[in-house]
Amino acid sequence: MSLIRVEGLGKRYGTREGDVLALSGVDFSVSPGEFVTLVGPSGCGKSTLLYILGGFMPPDAGTVSVNGAPVRGPGIDRGVVFQEYALFPWLTVAGNIGYGLDSLGVRGAERAERIAHYVRLIGLEGFERRYPRELSGGMKQRVAIARTLAYDPAILLLDEPLGALDAQTRESMQDELLRLWQATGKTVVMVTHDVSESVYLSQRILVLSRRPGRVVRTFQADLDRSGGREQVMLSAAFNELRNAVWLAVRHQAGPDAA
Ligand code: ADP
Repeated sequence: MSLIRVEGLGKRYGTREGDVLALSGVDFSVSPGEFVTLVGPSGCGKSTLLYILGGFMPPDAGTVSVNGAPVRGPGIDRGVVFQEYALFPWLTVAGNIGYGLDSLGVRGAERAERIAHYVRLIGLEGFERRYPRELSGGMKQRVAIARTLAYDPAILLLDEPLGALDAQTRESMQDELLRLWQATGKTVVMVTHDVSESVYLSQRILVLSRRPGRVVRTFQADLDRSGGREQVMLSAAFNELRNAVWLAVRHQAGPDAA
């Protein structure tokens, strides 16, 4: 049984210069507990696809369903982390992380514990009372991730969630994400432009064509990740797959990249 099913999806934006067809004929499904990444050339519609899965805008063609029900808007079952990590500027780090908990009725000691847990997870102990304007870009991004994880959605929709982080923090957040996914069995759909990241993290990689985006290649990434980062990244299996995905994306990027 698929948890997420996308069929014949199309999306067109109307602009003053005319229509832009962002997506056309997108088909894929995601099983419960699966970690899928979307890669493809810049502007091929990855963010658009994630917005539609999140229920933030309707498609023009085709259908998207979650658990058999058509997506009609955002829902608490889908936690979304956008590129621009929009935090609430009037709330502290702790307030931002706790925001979704209020609407779930999580209060008092349990709320405080959950916030403390996620503050530790993102390495921001001591920053609980800071406001977003007092944080670096990378810190804000980590708070945005923690805010989404804190209300425990079954599905995570992540749009370049680690894009603003420095290389070292990015690696440790990748490992946290992997650990979290393994520990919780969440279903993850993540957009990334980083091919190594997609192979390191996900079980399946969908390569989108250049605009209008549709799924043109699918790679299965059945890597043994039990030995840790170094063992995975130095393995022949990882490197062969990374090269194959990189080449597939490069072919989609157009004649000037070939
Ligand atoms: P990606 O995430 O793969 O870089 P996007 O989904 O952001 O791609 O955009 C896909 C295409 O749609 C791009 O050509 C982009 O310029 C266009 N686009 C995105 N959002 C809008 C919008 N609100 N209005 C008009 N065109 C848009």
